[in-house]
Amino acid sequence: MKMSKLYMPTLRETPSEAEIPSHQLLLRAGMIRNLVSGIYSYLPLGYRVIRKIENVVREEMDNAGSQETLMSAIQPRALWDASGRWEDFGPEMFKLKDRNSRDFCLGPTHEEYFASLIKGEIKSYKQLPLNLYQIQTKYRDEKRPRFGVIRAREFIMKDAYSFDRDKEGMEKSYKEMWKAYDRIFDRLKLRYKVVEGDSGAMGGNRSHEHMAMSEVGEGLIVYCAQCDYAATDEKAKVVYDIKKPDEDMGEMEKVYTPEVTTIDDLVDFFNIERSRFGKAVVYNASGEPIVVIVPGDRELNETKLCNYLKIPEHELEMANDEMVRNISGADAGFTGPVELKSNVRLVIDSRITNMTNLIVGGNETGYHLKNVNYGRDFNGEVVEDLLLVEEGDVCPKCGAALIMDRGIEVGNIFQLGTKYSESLGVNYLDENGKERPIVMGSYGVGISRTMSAIVEQYHDEYGIIWPLIVAPYHVIITVINYNDEEQRVLGERLYEDLRNRGLEVLLDDRKERPGVKFNDRDLIGIPIRITVGRRAAENIVEYSLRKDGKNIEIEEDQIIAKIEDEFRKEGLKI
Ligand code: ATP
Ligand code: MG
Repeated sequence: MKMSKLYMPTLRETPSEAEIPSHQLLLRAGMIRNLVSGIYSYLPLGYRVIRKIENVVREEMDNAGSQETLMSAIQPRALWDASGRWEDFGPEMFKLKDRNSRDFCLGPTHEEYFASLIKGEIKSYKQLPLNLYQIQTKYRDEKRPRFGVIRAREFIMKDAYSFDRDKEGMEKSYKEMWKAYDRIFDRLKLRYKVVEGDSGAMGGNRSHEHMAMSEVGEGLIVYCAQCDYAATDEKAKVVYDIKKPDEDMGEMEKVYTPEVTTIDDLVDFFNIERSRFGKAVVYNASGEPIVVIVPGDRELNETKLCNYLKIPEHELEMANDEMVRNISGADAGFTGPVELKSNVRLVIDSRITNMTNLIVGGNETGYHLKNVNYGRDFNGEVVEDLLLVEEGDVCPKCGAALIMDRGIEVGNIFQLGTKYSESLGVNYLDENGKERPIVMGSYGVGISRTMSAIVEQYHDEYGIIWPLIVAPYHVIITVINYNDEEQRVLGERLYEDLRNRGLEVLLDDRKERPGVKFNDRDLIGIPIRITVGRRAAENIVEYSLRKDGKNIEIEEDQIIAKIEDEFRKEGLKI
């Protein structure tokens, strides 16, 4: 492609709405454009990257025995009513009506769709296992679209669905997809960790997330310094040793604590460590008030709470002051587990039950209670673990220290079991003619998000540094002065030669100053650079790589060998 014709609207200034490098650079390099919040367009260079990512994904999915299909983005409500997710997906689902007022959604994912696709068509165990995928546009009305195409409202996903006879079959399919994902992200040169995830709205039992390591990642992960344990913060099991005070149960006592409403205030007021307090958090869970008690030095994990309550996360919100007053009779900050108003669900982290002489809110404005003990002074629903993991917690597997880090979730695999096949009636006949539900798995890769994740890991202050495998073009030839006959002739000759060898080449034939050309080439991140300048008459050019910038002079006939070498180092062939 000649750059004089290329639609590449680069920006000199960093757009103010972009907070992180990948968002800034993809906009500045003219690769993406924003339409409205969370909705993006891919321009020629950006779309070439997207297609290259798709192709790696395609190859690895095909190799793993999955077959490519393409479903509609529009899905009828009936499918989602059957699984219960028309409600459960909540405000994240884009809903619309047709001219006859029938309800539809723009698919946020396709479990129901694929399950219903094969329903009735897969009849016998002989047709299983089956694995189908698509690369398609998904829609989610995200609460907080941000970071460009990392969290968009319209995005490109590869989603795959496996269908097996039984749990063992599903586990095998799951392992194969896991391996395919490892290969995909290895080939895309991402540094990543695979962590145990929460299955959330998807249902089912096990899930793992491929997280591209990045300090701007919205995903918090913990992993063990000693063993292979790794999980998201939502999922990580908390091992927490309570420091049980060496004392007997005291007599419960009411203490006047005006203006003391936070744990920090309490620590100052009572001059005692945080862990001695029972912290009450009041929620509005699907319209019902729920009080949760956790140790005062720890945070509650809302995902674990939702899983326990069996409600989708969008139905959990903090209770407002009025709801708090209704259930405790006191202002916010004075809620506690003892003598709450009737019929309020009290949910207790199990650690609380082992603590002696807690200090808790008194359910009366201006008062706390001292020497409060589970079993004697209050009871409730005890849940083993409702806590959020913290750095320094110990590994639930081996007891070593856990390390916390940030990542961008680029892939997610789920063992779904029979949630969808049972609700949609997707069955097969086994060897004995007995009808059984098909056991499913589902597997997503965020294609557009992966593009941003690569930029997060591969950039510097001047621009993007694309790994060769996803670069929009392999080589850029910069002709310093296009009016110079010798430079122009050599530049064009090289351009033709390299393209004839199957390379993807940009020729900077623009009548711009050299500085502008160099800045653009850094910004758009083409891996291999050839500069045709003052020694063109001798057929000598400058050769450099975007990743290290080291310039060397070489003769025209050495160029191909250098490029081949670079391809080889990246595990690629021309
Ligand atoms: P997140 O936790 O980041 O909201 P998710 O767990 O809801 O993502 P999945 O349902 O697992 O997402 O979707 C599969 C993949 O699609 C994700 O791993 C991610 O790479 C990508 N993805 C999900 N939501 C978005 C989004 N809003 N914008 C871009 N990519 C997304
Ligand atoms: Mg996910």
